[in-house]
Order: sequence, then structure tokens, then C-alpha cells
Amino acid sequence: MDDKALEQIAFTNLPKQICPITGQKIMTPAVMHRDLSDFWPSKLADMRDDRIANLMIVERSARDKYYEKLKKAGVSLSFSGGLDSTTVLHWACKLFGSVHCLIFDYGQRHKIEIDRAINYLNTYRDSFDVPVTHQLVDMTPINQLAVSSLTRDEVKVPRNQSIDDMAKRIPSTFVPGRNLYFMTAVAQSAFASGFRHIALGVNALDYSGYPDCRPEFIAAMRDALSIGVFNGHEIGVHAPLMMLNKRNIIRLGLELGVKYEDTHSCYNGVLGGCGECDSCILRRTAFNELGMEDPAIAKWIK
Ligand code: ZN
Repeated sequence: MDDKALEQIAFTNLPKQICPITGQKIMTPAVMHRDLSDFWPSKLADMRDDRIANLMIVERSARDKYYEKLKKAGVSLSFSGGLDSTTVLHWACKLFGSVHCLIFDYGQRHKIEIDRAINYLNTYRDSFDVPVTHQLVDMTPINQLAVSSLTRDEVKVPRNQSIDDMAKRIPSTFVPGRNLYFMTAVAQSAFASGFRHIALGVNALDYSGYPDCRPEFIAAMRDALSIGVFNGHEIGVHAPLMMLNKRNIIRLGLELGVKYEDTHSCYNGVLGGCGECDSCILRRTAFNELGMEDPAIAKWIK
């Protein structure tokens, strides 16, 4: 579906043609996603079909001006070096003028992801058009308080679950409160840097049923952080992968130049993936559905 067809669909659902940015009548319409995740290379336009509900029609010049403004703005990003957050990193580098990544040590079982995340940034930093900085943050209090198979050796990581089973119950890998801490920390970092934008790679479709990956949680956090950290100023909380399935996340990432062989997702900390944990299964299934093998397998296992 091209931009014109999308505009038509969005227009028929629009009672009044008033630009939500300018408050004026729209003379030259343009489509924009409410969560600003509309940086889609044209080849991937079909992904937008799922996202019609999230569209708004704006005055084209207002949209262009907004994106120019973002190009001058900075964003703080929660970065784990995994498939999702690395895709968001590349996405953020296209939209924003600078990107600051927070990497969290929360005593996770797959501590190796911290090294892999730092390695990714150090290896590819120069290939981005904008400055990318990073900081490792000690979040080990999460490990003290939250009982999860990602934070406690005595709790087992589920093995060889089907994707349907994953959706049935919240798995033991859920770390209660994790995204609450992470989003707060990312907002603190944004505030300290004078940024008004934060981003994270949460996803509500192909995920392990974590309640803190749902849109209503992200929206509630956006409101809480705006009120409690930014003194009521509006902030941009960007979750561009929220309504994409894993397959489309990978397609987007490949277009954006993500080097998936250097991203790490495995809960068991196995380089290239154990192939048995939920994270490995979701990841490998998505690559297979695209008719590809996960490039991390060739790099680390074979
Ligand atoms: Zn694994």
C-alpha cells in the first residue's frame, strides 16, 4: 500500500480535516504515525497495513518541520544489544540528531549481553550518521528484589516451549518491574542531557507475554514520567516496534542495516543462541519465516 492509498483510508475515517499539530485546516495532507514510528523505507510500506489505527493526518509542512526538529534533538534509548533494541538503535539514528544508549546490568543470567551490547556500539558506532554514546548502569537492585529465572539461578529458564504456549502464561523469565526501572532511568538520563525523547524496543505481538511490554503500560509510563520527571512537559516515548511482529522487525532492521549476527538474544547467554529458550525460538522462527537462517548461527555456532 502506497502513501496515497493510506492517505485515502485515513481521510475517510477523519471527520474534520484539522491538523492536530497546527490546529489549522489541512491544505496539503501527509500521513504520520502517532508514535512517530513512520520511518519506514518505502519497500516496507505493506507493514503499515496493521497500523492504520495509529495514523493521523497532518499538514505536510508541519510534519516536515517536526522531523527537522527531531533531527536536532537527542534521544535516550534502553539498549540491550538484542534483536529488538538494536533495530530501534538504527531507527533512532535515522530520526534523531544524537542517540544516548543506556545498557543495564541487572544481574541478568545472560550477562554476556552487556559485553555484546558494548561490542556492537564500539564496532558500528562510526557507521552511524549521528553521534551515538553509551553508558553502563548498575541496576542490580532489580536482581535483589525480583524473582525470575533471568535473575535467579535456582529458577529454571523454560525450554523448547511452543510459541502458542508462550502466549498462554507469563513465563518465569518475566522480571517484575524491569521496564519500570529501565524507563525511569532512561528518562532520568534524557532529563540530565536536556533531551525530551526516550525510546525502547518493546513489542506487544511476538513477545513472551510480559505485561510491561503492553501499549497501556508504555502510555501510563509516558504520563507518569512527563508529570513526575519533566514537570508536566510533553515527552516523546517511542516504541516503534510495538505493533510489529518479529518477522517485520527483522525486515525493518535489515533495511536499516542492522548486523543481526552481532546481536544477542539468548536468555541462556549462549553466543549465537541455545535454540531452546523462548527468546531463541521467537528469533529463529522469525528468520525462518523470512526464508533465512539467523546470521548469528553462522557466525558463532557453525
Ligand atoms: Zn537461547
